Amino acid sequence: MTAVENANAGEQYEQYTPSFAEYWDDLVGWDDRLERDGPFYERLLRAHGAKDVADVATGTGVNGVALALAGFNVTATDGSENMLIKARENAKARGATFADSRVADWLTLDDTLGKEKYDAIVCLGNSFTHLFDHEQRRDALHAMFRTLRPGGMLIIDHRNYDTMLDEGYSSKHAYNYCGDDVDVGPAQLHRGLAQFHYKFKDGSTFQLNMYPLRQNYVTHLLEDAGFVNVERYGDMQRPFILNQVDFIQQVAFRP
Ligand code: SAM
Repeated sequence: MTAVENANAGEQYEQYTPSFAEYWDDLVGWDDRLERDGPFYERLLRAHGAKDVADVATGTGVNGVALALAGFNVTATDGSENMLIKARENAKARGATFADSRVADWLTLDDTLGKEKYDAIVCLGNSFTHLFDHEQRRDALHAMFRTLRPGGMLIIDHRNYDTMLDEGYSSKHAYNYCGDDVDVGPAQLHRGLAQFHYKFKDGSTFQLNMYPLRQNYVTHLLEDAGFVNVERYGDMQRPFILNQVDFIQQVAFRP
C-alpha cells in the first residue's frame, strides 16, 4: 500500500491518512522514545515553570500523553483529525487526560486557541518540516508567538537536515523514531525536498514529503517572529557536535 504521493503546501497534515495514523505508533516506538526524550522535555518545561502546555503537533500523542501524565495541563492539537482521534484513544488507554484537544492549524493557532493562553508550546517529532513555504513557516511562528503568554517558551524539534544535506543520510535511529518494525530512509534528498519512505515489516509502505530545515534558518525564523534567547540542543545534549546528532531541539522564548 502506498500512502499519499504528494501534498500541497499548507495541507501537509493530509499526508496522515487514517491508515498511516494507525501505523504511526509503530513508527514512534513509544516506550523507547519516551525513555530518551520524555525526561528532557519535562525538565525543560518544569525549569521554566510551565503549567499550561499546548502540544501543537500531537500526532498520535506520544509527548502530549507523557506530559499530561507528568502533571502538565496539556492541550493537544494537530492539523489532522485522524491523528488526534488516535491520540485521544492512546491518552485513554494510558490513563491520561488532556485539558483540551482539538484540530488546529499552526497558521491560525491563536484564532483557534486564543491569544496569550499558554506557558509553553511544543512542536516535536520533526513536525515543523511539513511546511513547504517560507511565508507559511513565518506566519506559523508568529501565530505560535501570539498564542504564548509573555515569557512563554516554544520548543521545536527537527531532524538534523544540515548533516543530511552536507554529508548524506545516516541515522543511528537512537532518537525519536525507534519502532523496531519499520525501516526509515530518504527516497529523495535535496535542498528543496526530503522525501522519506517508511517500510513496515508487514510490507506496507508510506512516504512523507518534508522540507529540509537547516538549523540556522529555523533560528532566524524564530528571531524574525520575535522570539529571543534561542538555545539549541543536539539529541537533547548541549553542547553537541552537529554531524554526530540525528535531531536538533530549538528552545525559544517570547519576551
Ligand atoms: N509529534 C508527533 C510525534 O512525534 O509522534 C507527531 C509528529 S508527525 C511527524 C507531524 C504532525 O504534524 C502530524 O500529526 C501532522 O498532522 C501535524 N501537522 C503538519 N502540518 C501541520 C499544520 N500546518 N498544522 C497543525 N499540525 C500539522
